[in-house]
Amino acid sequence: MYKKIALIGGGIGGLTAGYYLSKKGHRVTIFEKENFLGGLAGDFKMEGENLEKLYHHFFKTDKDLINLLKEVGLEGQIIWNKSSTGLYWKNKMYPFNEAMDLLRFKPLSLVDKFRMGMAALYLGFDKNWQKYEDKTAVEWVRRWMGKKGYEVVWKPLLQGKFHKYYKDISMAWLWARIHTRGNSKNDKGEEVLGYIDGGFEKLVERLAELIKINGGEIKLKNEIRDTKDLEKNFDLVIDTRPDKEVEYLATVNIVFSSDQNLSEYYWHNINDSKSPFLAFIQHTNLVGKEKYNNKNIYYLGVYVPQDHEFLEMDEKKLINQWFDYLKKIFSKFDKTRAKNVSVFRFKYGQHIVSRKYKVKSYKVSDKVYRMNFAQIYPQDRGVNFGVREAKKLISSL
Ligand SMILES: Cc1cc2nc3c(=O)[nH]c(=O)nc-3n(C[C@H](O)[C@H](O)[C@H](O)COP(=O)(O)OP(=O)(O)OC[C@H]3O[C@@H](n4cnc5c(N)ncnc54)[C@H](O)[C@@H]3O)c2cc1C
Repeated sequence: MYKKIALIGGGIGGLTAGYYLSKKGHRVTIFEKENFLGGLAGDFKMEGENLEKLYHHFFKTDKDLINLLKEVGLEGQIIWNKSSTGLYWKNKMYPFNEAMDLLRFKPLSLVDKFRMGMAALYLGFDKNWQKYEDKTAVEWVRRWMGKKGYEVVWKPLLQGKFHKYYKDISMAWLWARIHTRGNSKNDKGEEVLGYIDGGFEKLVERLAELIKINGGEIKLKNEIRDTKDLEKNFDLVIDTRPDKEVEYLATVNIVFSSDQNLSEYYWHNINDSKSPFLAFIQHTNLVGKEKYNNKNIYYLGVYVPQDHEFLEMDEKKLINQWFDYLKKIFSKFDKTRAKNVSVFRFKYGQHIVSRKYKVKSYKVSDKVYRMNFAQIYPQDRGVNFGVREAKKLISSL
């Protein structure tokens, strides 16, 4: 029997669930508190083109997302390009893409490199993530990759991603990260990443359009504080809001365009605890700059605790502080040539996946189901897994 279903939240999770449910014939209504859709994957206009407020790409292994893109007619918009990574350590940027880069990586000894390479290979092959659940990433990496490999490569990454909580993070999370990413390769064994031509906004727009075609409704600027009223008026409520009982880190991104070409890589891990940002991304090194008036597009990003000064800091001060640091990394960086500088801050950017992290079940009560990205584990929360969760929840109803 067809049902009247309310969805709270118009991010990728809510929109995907709304699309699949409306396709089955249910009457869906999406309530979104902002006046735009897309949540963390939402866009803005940059150099005349849609661009994510927070850097976004996907992997060859992201089958649920790829299938959804095909299903909604966006297969032709998928761009696959070779990725490239740099690692910044002690005032120097090193290439960090393939086995040869690791071999040439000076900060580690031959023994350290061998241990790191073997451990990463092992994680790539091992399918049993459950055995890593009761271990922290810090203890596992120190034991199997060695102290130096931990200090130079993994500690900065864990600290950057989880800030003060880094010591608690489950090894199952790191397993998933290495296992999945290691398999996003082309025929030549090079890492390739996907992007949607025209931005993730294309997917957001298309899902919204299909929901409406299927008879659904989308209500923007509709903040839902309590599900009680919805329970009275709908047969089912699916809540995609952040879970109040889960701890999250916030995220801050600075995005800008420039005619300067700062780097040859797409992704840069800034492995320096003094840096205010963890990642530096030259987006146009993955997708090309033609669509952006031939300008380069850059992101600087970090995750911080809810009480961190970056969340309240005056934008100008924040930009100056981060740009000063960028100049230390790339001495040629000229901030007067940075245009369209935008700051985006989201309170709920990453759930803290501590050792023995417990995933909550979908069902809250007979009428209310929860489906938020804190239920994604051990994989890193990502659009693909939002799609997967929506499909799983719907098939369980
Ligand atoms: C810095 C960063 C980089 C990322 N990069 C990638 C990437 O490269 N690739 C990738 O696949 N994923 C990436 N992700 C993850 C991806 O963006 C998310 O997993 C995905 O967008 C989550 O979708 P969601 O719908 O579950 O949550 P959200 O996007 O958080 O959506 C929740 C929605 O609910 C709304 N809402 C909240 N409270 C209420 C309320 N009370 N009433 C009504 N509405 C409400 C919010 O406004 C929001 O629109 C990244 C995330 C971050 C933070």
